[in-house]
Amino acid sequence: MSDQIELSGVNKYYGAYHALRNIDLTIRKGSFTALVGPSGCGKSTLLRSLAGLESISTGTLAIAGQVMNTVPPRKRDIAMVFQSYALYPHMTVEENLTYSLRIRGTPKAEAKRAAAEVAATTGLSPLLGRYPRELSGGQRQRVAMSRAIIRNPKAFLFDEPLSNLDAALRVHMRKEIRALHDRLGATSVYVTHDQIEAMTMADHVVVMRAGVIEQQGRPLDLYDRPVNRFVAGFIGSPAMNFVPAIGGPDGRSLVLDLGERQTVALGYGVTPGAAMTAGLRPEHISIAAPGAGRLKVAVATVESTGSATYVTTATTPELVLVVNGRADLKVGDEIGLDFAPAQLHLFDTRTERRLEAIDDAA
Ligand code: ADP
Repeated sequence: MSDQIELSGVNKYYGAYHALRNIDLTIRKGSFTALVGPSGCGKSTLLRSLAGLESISTGTLAIAGQVMNTVPPRKRDIAMVFQSYALYPHMTVEENLTYSLRIRGTPKAEAKRAAAEVAATTGLSPLLGRYPRELSGGQRQRVAMSRAIIRNPKAFLFDEPLSNLDAALRVHMRKEIRALHDRLGATSVYVTHDQIEAMTMADHVVVMRAGVIEQQGRPLDLYDRPVNRFVAGFIGSPAMNFVPAIGGPDGRSLVLDLGERQTVALGYGVTPGAAMTAGLRPEHISIAAPGAGRLKVAVATVESTGSATYVTTATTPELVLVVNGRADLKVGDEIGLDFAPAQLHLFDTRTERRLEAIDDAA
């Protein structure tokens, strides 16, 4: 429990604009928490509120049981890791690392020793004498992290630290940041708009929209059981397919509207006549044997990356499916599609909330 960060009922207004709405969030010591959501949803505002760079309007922010609402940033013992370009260009790596210690009056020899120790952890030992311009993007990112590590903070906050790096380096740095987090036994909060980054790095994912936490939990729990259509569409790539549907008259089937209506048996109960949105992930749809399948569709596009084939259907709405390897398909082919009814996600059309199957085992 110690060193845990706890937000309860936190609201933030910028003038009349309500940027954070009733945020309840526990960041456990040692956890890696990702804040994810579309641009403008309030991720950075939440992160900056933790750091003390923004004040919260109402609610409580506590760190290790101590209310921090009005405690200034430097007294919160929390380090913000900025993008790598926030390094001091006229200082060597060592000077960049020791800067925060020197301004706090740490003796030079001690600061130097601390820099050497951190550099050994982050693989920067041979580079201490270089200037930022003499480093690669990945090395600069490591300096940015080392600069935070040297302060031995209670938590590390990352605000989209990898967004300036190219795709290959980004994938590499994800692993490196996560490994460093584990090695240090750190507590990390990481802001990203990239759900793949959130899913692969974090053990607790917080999905935000318009200042609200829509869902939080373990990455695969969000993937398996999104609480609403927004989370369902946001988590997973390619995105989940959504099809308007109505509960079948027998209460055990679904009438899908794909331009023309197609009825699929479910094997579980739904409310007859209820308007729903059926969600089906591209990776959960397979191509049926000729003449078979739950759905009949025509092929609209076929794209192969070698390892996988992406197919879209000539239906309204269009369906996207992904099959492993190659598929012997061409545009215009009439095919059958299969899926396991248990992998359908059902959402109430009006509220967009997840609907549970009606248990009719009795
Ligand atoms: P995100 O990090 O998710 O992209 P932000 O937290 O930066 O979103 O911003 C959330 C919302 O608050 C946005 O609509 C943004 O325009 C608004 N906002 C952010 N900072 C300010 C500010 N200083 N004054 C007024 N509005 C702001």
